[in-house]
Order: sequence, then structure tokens, then C-alpha cells
Amino acid sequence: MPEGVMKAWLESSHLNGGNIVYIEELYESYLDNSESVSAEWREIFGKLPKVEGSDVEYRHSAIRDEFKALAKQAQKQVVVSSDGDAKQVKVLQLINAFRFRGHQNANLDPLGLWQRDKVRDLQLSHHGLSENDFDKEFNVGSLAIGQDTMKLGELYKALKTTYCGSIGAEYMHITSTDEKRWLQQRLEAVQSKAKLSVEEKTEVLKGLIAADGLEKYLGAKFPGAKRFSLEGGDSLIPMLKELITRAGAAGTKEVVFGMAHRGRLNVLVNVMGKNPSKLFDEFGGKHDEALGSGDVKYHQGYSSDFVTPGGNVHLALAFNPSHLEIVNPVVIGSVRARLDRRDCTQGDLVLPVTIHGDSAIAGQGVVQETFNMSQARAFKVGGTVRIVVNNQVGFTTSRSDDTRSGEYCTEIAKMVQAPIIHVNGDDPEAVILATQIALDYRNEFKRDVVIDLVCYRRHGHNEADEPSATQPLMYKNVKKHPTPRQLYADKLTAEGSLPASKIDELTAYYRKLLDEGQCTVEQWRPMTQHSVDWTPYLGHDWDDAYDASMPIEKLKELAKAVSTYPEDHPVHSRVKKIYDDRKKMASGEKLLDWGFAENLAYATVVDDGKRVRITGQDAGRGTFFHRHAVLHNQEDASTYLPLQNVREGQGPFDVHDSVLSEVSVLAFEYGYTTAEPAGLTIWEAQFGDFANCAQVVFDQFISSGEQKWGRLCGLTMLLPHGYEGQGPEHSSARLERYLQLCADHNMQVCVPSTPAQVFNMLRRQVVRPMRRPLIVMSPKSLLRHPLAVSSLEELASGVFQNVIGETDDIDPKAVERVIFCSGKVYYELLEQRRKNEQNNIAIIRIEQLYPFPEQELQEALKDYQHVKQFVWCQEEPQNQGAWYCSQHHFRAAIPEGTYLTYAGRNASAAPAVGYMSVHVKEQQALVTQALTLD
Ligand code: AMP
Repeated sequence: MPEGVMKAWLESSHLNGGNIVYIEELYESYLDNSESVSAEWREIFGKLPKVEGSDVEYRHSAIRDEFKALAKQAQKQVVVSSDGDAKQVKVLQLINAFRFRGHQNANLDPLGLWQRDKVRDLQLSHHGLSENDFDKEFNVGSLAIGQDTMKLGELYKALKTTYCGSIGAEYMHITSTDEKRWLQQRLEAVQSKAKLSVEEKTEVLKGLIAADGLEKYLGAKFPGAKRFSLEGGDSLIPMLKELITRAGAAGTKEVVFGMAHRGRLNVLVNVMGKNPSKLFDEFGGKHDEALGSGDVKYHQGYSSDFVTPGGNVHLALAFNPSHLEIVNPVVIGSVRARLDRRDCTQGDLVLPVTIHGDSAIAGQGVVQETFNMSQARAFKVGGTVRIVVNNQVGFTTSRSDDTRSGEYCTEIAKMVQAPIIHVNGDDPEAVILATQIALDYRNEFKRDVVIDLVCYRRHGHNEADEPSATQPLMYKNVKKHPTPRQLYADKLTAEGSLPASKIDELTAYYRKLLDEGQCTVEQWRPMTQHSVDWTPYLGHDWDDAYDASMPIEKLKELAKAVSTYPEDHPVHSRVKKIYDDRKKMASGEKLLDWGFAENLAYATVVDDGKRVRITGQDAGRGTFFHRHAVLHNQEDASTYLPLQNVREGQGPFDVHDSVLSEVSVLAFEYGYTTAEPAGLTIWEAQFGDFANCAQVVFDQFISSGEQKWGRLCGLTMLLPHGYEGQGPEHSSARLERYLQLCADHNMQVCVPSTPAQVFNMLRRQVVRPMRRPLIVMSPKSLLRHPLAVSSLEELASGVFQNVIGETDDIDPKAVERVIFCSGKVYYELLEQRRKNEQNNIAIIRIEQLYPFPEQELQEALKDYQHVKQFVWCQEEPQNQGAWYCSQHHFRAAIPEGTYLTYAGRNASAAPAVGYMSVHVKEQQALVTQALTLD
């Protein structure tokens, strides 16, 4: 536009919809490069105030959206102030500032202790506006307030009410305009005020009465006993009930909760409907014998149904260890299993709800991991509703200086652009609105959302604690602060919604329920809709008889199916060679290698109509180029999975390269497997030693979950292990760690050495009704070892041999020494023995180290009763591997009067050496040592 024309235009025009698009474009180019617009426009744009900390968003979406919205009203003449167009733009800026930063001046802290600076951007003066403009009418842009124009005075008030009341909404970090608009609509249309009927208000009050009533009751009945009271965060109870009710009305069938100890007893009784008399019994020391050695009250899970306008919703509260936040991936995994079972890919039917502490959500890395997983193919569940019970203190650690570096405890949620709704826990109606918006957002956009319930903790970390010792000012304030129940009851009586007598009646009624030991949740229903029946899996042990054999013809048919892919799907030449070989293996021309046997095991499971699910960092291809379950078209990068094409109506085959995490992925798969007993679920570590990043999952869930909580889990973990000179970190899967966790037949630890063994081990895990974790030291170099091959017949036998006796043609009578070993070292011993022609040494492989196969070992030793020298040979250093944990089993198996020696690496702090030459020397030495007769 020529300068003179523009000047005239500027002087004469109003900011109306028609020309506003033009201005928007001009403004965008100015933001990209201020030199790209003329000096006049540069001057105008340059005078616009900046919204602090929001430059990028402000440039690329917010203002643009404002302009776009105005452009839609193209033909409508907008009334503007006589001060001209620039002021109108400033008003839009003001609206924008509230959307960005209103939460920073919101009334969020019930205790009023937060010291927050006044946000300059929210002041009229910052935008060149003043109270003198209050009576002037401005266009409100996209503000979803139900009118196009407003007097500045009213607008300013509405902005404060919407963005600086009991709800502080953080959402302008979201890049999707649709999502932002949706949230604006929900907040601005009601000015962040819930519109509740008297009935609904009464329901909210009942929730608060219950929350408060239970804690007071427990406090009086069991003084000093740890209960990790909810008091201060009481609004959590009406919040959760609203969440379930609304979810049910929207069609949700199951809600799975994960939460730490804070307020858990309250949730169990007042939301899940656990009978209070059961809880009182637990306080009194009684417990359910069926639940093994049990766990403390505030770690207990629970299952029930809850009636909603959409029908009964099944509720499950996951069992929880003390480690904060680790239950979240478990919950989400459990939800994914339930969704898969219901064939629900969008997440509508099952809702995950995770309840966090403020210090923990900011402090624990697993939170970041689960956010990162939230939209990843293998792990997404259509969004999680995450609630923070933000009581502003972590045990004795203060909120502001010590627990975090971000402004809010919820900063991490921004990594996935989740909206964060901070809400004052003392305003239960705002809590209800926040809950409704959060749930609806999750259901609409299938993404994570966070509600930060800002509250306080009435007592110490537990009830025996004295919080004033470390938080004196906070607790001076807490002591004076009325309960949420009191505040809300007062509000309802003051506004005339409920008479005080009615409130007393409700309080007395709740108390009566507790006295009589009756369920306090009206919506509670006994569990009816078990989506899965666990009874067939209960009460089995690892040595129960089972038949996993299969006709060889069937196996060949499956082998053909999984070695075939479409001709018009060109694969990489190396992969083609592997598949060409597989075709030969399928026809019986060649013996089977590891990768093919493993794929074939999966084929048998899906052929049986069951699901196979494998995740791990390179699960599709396999870290060591052996699996190739996913075939990548070299021309168009499309994929083909032979295992998804076994037969019509087969079970699903899901293989996913996972996010780069161990702890949360393993916890997710644990959650998945504890919710799904059928099928085969596998987690594969890239290298076995990386699994130590997931140690908490092995310790707190996998090894002990059945004993503590009676929860079965059939998860299989493939942990690549073997000494091949790759250094301290890529050699050992730390076998010793798992063996040390073994007791009470809690899990199985296997070291299969042949393709037939891996095939039958995987099948055994599904065919046998026992559901217990299976830890596998899986191979690396063995995947391509010429001797590690099997026949189709060996596979078809269906037998996993816990012990493999001598397989070479050796006369037992000539044997003077028996070597016991597991894993790859077997082949090195075998080759060396053959080379040395040492027919006086037998080698016995122990393929299952736990539960230890005593009888099978006895059987394998029956021809060697005359032998005096027994040796355990391992690749690992002496302080590692199976030697320490399992030698008592080896000793118990050998005949009396004989002795057992050790052949292996010396004890070492590191699992392996870093230099190949040293590794080779050590490896040769341990093989020689094992093969040298005394
Ligand atoms: P849920 O769907 O998790 O609420 O579980 C419903 C019921 O199924 C529980 O009350 C248990 O009786 C049973 N159940 C669920 N998961 C397991 C499991 N992993 N092992 C054994 N029983 C289970």
C-alpha cells in the first residue's frame, strides 16, 4: 500500500472485520521482521505492550486468532472508542494478557500464604488504558463471553472473575487453536463459575462432610495411628465423585485410579465404597489372609462398581508401593490392557486418573516419562486426568525454596502441552467446574490434562508428626483455618441454599453410617462387571502339568505364514536373506535359528486367538538384528508384519519400539499384564543391564506384587545377557539381582540356550495357567551361533527343559567331571571339549535357575553318581551371576562325598572388563579351568 494511501486509510478507517485480516497479516510480518512493514505501521506495532513471557505464543497464535475471530464478523460494523483503533488493539492485548497470565494473580492458595507479585500485564496502565476508559465500548474479539462488544469496565471485571478467581487456568502454551478456543469457551462463557443446582451443591457438601467426617472419626478412634489424612484437601472427594459420575454419563465403563498414601483411606471409603468396618478392622490389626503377607492400609487397592447416569462404572484403585509416582505408568498400562480388551482405540471406555503429590510430581522423573508416553503409539490411552493434591509441603520440605525450581509444581505437564487448571481447594464449586472441564477436555481431545488442587495439610506428614517444628508459620495459619466443610456449609446457609439444620442432619447421618460400619457411598454397587475372570489362573504353580505340544504340520503351516511377505513389499537385502533362510527353515530344509523360533512362538499364540504384545527400545527389529517382526518397505517405508497376517480371526500381534525409558515402560507393561491374564506380554531391554534403571519396578511390583497384594502377573522380560567383550555395561543383565529377589516361587528366571528352548519357554508362559513373571537372560551372539539351532520336531514337542543333560554321545561311565552351566558359555565349553576330545567330561545346562528344578537335575545326574568332581562354570565374576544365589541348589544335587568348585571370573566391582584382549583371555581361562580335571 503506498504510504500516502495508508496514512489516509489509517486516519479514516475503523478496526472492523474487513480490514482486520489485512492488519493481522501485516502484524505477523512485522513480528517476523520489523523491517518488512512501513515506518508508520512499525511505529504502531512497536507501541503495543508486550505480554511478558509469552512472546512466541502471542505472535503466532493468540493475536492472530483474535484478528481472525474479528475477521469472521466481516460485515458487522464494530463500535469503537473515539480514541481510535489503537486503543481497541490494546483492549485485545489486555484480554490476551489475562488469558496468558491471569492465573498468576488468581486466588489459589486457601491459606493465603503465597507471595506473588502483581502481574503488570494485568494492569490497565500497562496497556495504556485507564479507568477513564471504563465506559467506552470495545470489541471483545474472541472472548467467549456471549457478546461482541462491552464497556471496558465490565470487560475488566469479567476478565478478573474468569482468570483471577478460584481457578487459574494455564493453557496458552497449547499450540492447537482448537484446543485453546475450546478451553476459552468453557472458562469465559461461565466466567469460571460453576452453575450448580441446590441438589448438586448438596452432593458436593456431602462429599466434604464425608471427607472431614471420616478423618475426624479415625483420629478419635485410633489416635496417633498413621492415616495420612486428607484434611485440607477435602475437595478431592467431591471432585472424584463428580469425575466418575460425569465419565459414566459420557459412556466410560471403567475408571482406574493411582494414588499415593495421602488421603488414600478417605478415597477408599468415601469414593470406592470400601466398607469402613473393614478399615477399622485393619486399624485393629486384622487382615485378609488371602492377600499373602499383605501391605499397610494406605497401600491397599480396591475394586467396586459405582452407579452413574450412564450405568455402572467399574472402579479399580491400583495397589501402590511407597515409591511415589511409580504407580502412574502401572495404572496407565492397566488402562491400555482394558481398552485393548474392549477393542477401544480412542480411550473412551476406560479412564485413567492419577493422583499426585505436589513435591512428587515436580520431583520424580517417572512423571516426565509418562507424559512423554501419553501420545506414543504403544502407550496412549486417550489421555489421563492427573490430579495434584497440592498441600504445599513435602513431608517436612517447604514448597517454595526446596522442592522445585519451576513456578508451579505442574510445569512438567507443559512438555505435552497439557492444560493445567489450578484451583483453590477451599472453593469446592470451582473444583467441580475444574473437574468437569478437565474431563471433557480429555474426552474431546484425548490428551492428558492436569488439575492442581491447591490445598493444605492439616496435620503433619502423618498424624504422629509435629509439623509446626519445621513449618511454623504455615501451621499457625492452618490451626486457625476453618475446614472446607465448614466454609462451604457456611456459604450454603448464607446464600440460602441449605438450612443449617439440614447440614447437621447430613453430618449426623454420615457419622451414623460409620458407627454402624456401613458403606458410605450411595453410588457404590457390588462389583458385577468383571471384564476378566482371574479364577482360572489362581492357585497354580510352575511345575503344574501342561501340554504345549503341537502337530508338526500345524507348526509348518505357521512357519510358512510368518516367513512370507508380499512380493510388492521390497525389504532390505540383509532382511531378505534372513527371510529366505526362514523359508528354508519353514520347509524343514534348514534347522531353525533363534529369531525364527521366537517369531514362531508368537505365531502359535496369535493363532490360538490370543494377543502378543512386545515393547522395548528396538522390539520390532530386535536390538541384535534377529527378530524382524516388522518388515520395512525399502521404497515407500510402509511396514508389513507377517505375524499380523497369520490367519483370519487370529489374535492381535502388537510390537512397538518403545519410548527410550526402562522404568516407566516396564511399569506400564506390569500394569498391562496385571490387568490381562490371557496372551503373552513381553518387555525387552535393549541390553540387559539397562533394566537396572527399572529396579524399582522389579523390587516393588514384579517380585513382590503377588505376595503383598495377591496380584498375579505373567509378564515376560527379555534381558540380553552374555560376555562378548562389549565392556562393563553391555555384558551382564545382572542375573544375580533377580536371583536374590527370588523366594516363594514368586517369579521364574530362565536362561534358554536353544531356539527350541526359547520357543517352548514362551509358549509355556501362555499355555500353562500359572501367571508369574518370567525373567529371561536372553542371548546376543548366540542368536547367530551355528550350534544354537533346533529342529521343527524339537519345537513341536512343547517341552521346555528346565535342565538339559549331556547331549553328545558320551559314555556316562567314562565321565570323571560334570560341569553345570547356563547360557552361552555352554557352547564355548562344548566346542573346547570337542576340540580337546575330552569324553570324560559331561556338561549339564540348567535352563531354569528359579524355581530351581531339583528333580530334573537329579534325573540328569542319575548316570553320574560315581563322579567326584562337579564344577559350576559361569562367565560372570564370582560375586555376580548364579554362583552365590544358586550354589546351595547345586550342592544339594550332587552325590554325598563329592565336591563342587567354581570356574569363572574373579570377583569384580565392574561386571566386565573394557578391553577386548583382556576379555578374551579371561573367557579362555574360565573355559580351560572348567575343563581341567583335578
Ligand atoms: P479390577 O478390574 O482390577 O478391579 O479387578 C477386579 C477383580 O479381579 C479384583 O478384585 C480381583 O479379584 C481380580 N483381579 C484383578 N487383577 C488381578 C490380578 N492381577 N491377579 C489376580 N486377581 C486379579
